[in-house]
Formats: sequence, C-alpha cells, structure tokens
Amino acid sequence: MSLRIRKDDEVIVLAGNYKGMKGKVLRVFPDRQRAIVEGVNYIQRHTPPNPRNREGGIVKREGTIHMSNLALYCSNCDKGVRFKTVVEKDDKKRVCVHCGETL
Ligand SMILES: [Zn+2]
Repeated sequence: MSLRIRKDDEVIVLAGNYKGMKGKVLRVFPDRQRAIVEGVNYIQRHTPPNPRNREGGIVKREGTIHMSNLALYCSNCDKGVRFKTVVEKDDKKRVCVHCGETL
C-alpha cells in the first residue's frame, strides 16, 4: 500500500477531538500508520525538576494521530478531499477528485 499522506502535506482532521483542524504534517510513521500534524493533538507533560531541566514545568509537544483520521486538505474545495494520482511526463501528481486542483 502506498502512503497516502506525506511529510509537509496540508491535512485536515476528520474525526476525534481535533476534528476540523488543519495543519502541516511534520512527521509520518508508516509502520504505525500514524502522523504528527502541526498544532494538532498537543500533549502536555508535567515534568518535575531534574538534572537536565532544573525548573521542571509543562512541556508541550504534538502527539501522533492515526492517518485514517486525516485527509489531504484542498484549499480550492476548502475541505478534506480524496485524491487520485495522475502520471504526467514521468511526474506523479496528486489531484483533488472534486476540482482537479494539484495537491
Ligand atoms: Zn478540490
């Protein structure tokens, strides 16, 4: 199965607590079918003071989200869309199935 979502894609969350949020894919974990999306699914960790971090405190970072909950975002349709892959002169393009916009 080819990867549907790649790093630097603009995606929208389809389900769950973050439904409707858009962001850029920062990282993908193909083996786990999960991705990290900028600004989505922040995890707050309360870190007690330790030798590396004397102050302790709250550390924020993005958690992973399952790829089945993500769709590529089409700015033309203003929503998450399905896409098809079009081969054009040795170049593979992903195209929105609704409007034909290159994603
Ligand atoms: Zn579109």
